[in-house]
Amino acid sequence: GYRARSAFKLKQLNESSGLLSPGDHVVDLGAAPGGWLQVAAEEVGEHGKVVGVDLQRIKELEARNVTTIRGDMTEEETKEKLLAELGEDGADVVLSDMAPNMTGEYNLDHARSVYLARQAFEVALDVLDSGGDLAVKVFDGPDLPDLREDMEKEFQYVRATHPDASRKESSELYLIGKGRITAPIRTGD
Ligand code: SAM
Repeated sequence: GYRARSAFKLKQLNESSGLLSPGDHVVDLGAAPGGWLQVAAEEVGEHGKVVGVDLQRIKELEARNVTTIRGDMTEEETKEKLLAELGEDGADVVLSDMAPNMTGEYNLDHARSVYLARQAFEVALDVLDSGGDLAVKVFDGPDLPDLREDMEKEFQYVRATHPDASRKESSELYLIGKGRITAPIRTGD
């Protein structure tokens, strides 16, 4: 079984947006307790690799293609640990299910969630190979269009989706950026 019901959200996102393929290197931000890690590990298989990061300790997984880092993604030190773990290969997919502690104050929760989503977006720009994908959770609100526009500059296309599995939390959605655009590397000629 899965450690968290949120596993089914990633399954739905993957079915609708084709995120995970065998052999992929995947980053999973806000990964505790590990439901998404379990799904991603299955999808990428033994030739793939999944790196999860969370503030909370993640109980070790059975899957041998998963490593985890405990840390705060708003801190530079954690980003550096992640980059070191990925090595030169970078990543094919960046996932973020990070969520702030809810205060119940709509605007504050929204702003904090956009801030976390922007951390994931920055990581994606650092590590994603050309053609790579980003899927990031965010609570709906006034700062969403700016985030989406910024993502649209970096991906072939961006769409917003509410997986059925998250229907109850009505303000929660996922922005999916498909196909990272990178400038072609010039060879010396
Ligand atoms: N996708 C996970 C799963 O399937 O098990 C569930 C993730 S849960 C909805 C959100 C997680 O984001 C929490 O475990 C929380 O600790 C983490 N989180 C929130 N802010 C964070 C930050 N600044 N850095 C790292 N993780 C963070």
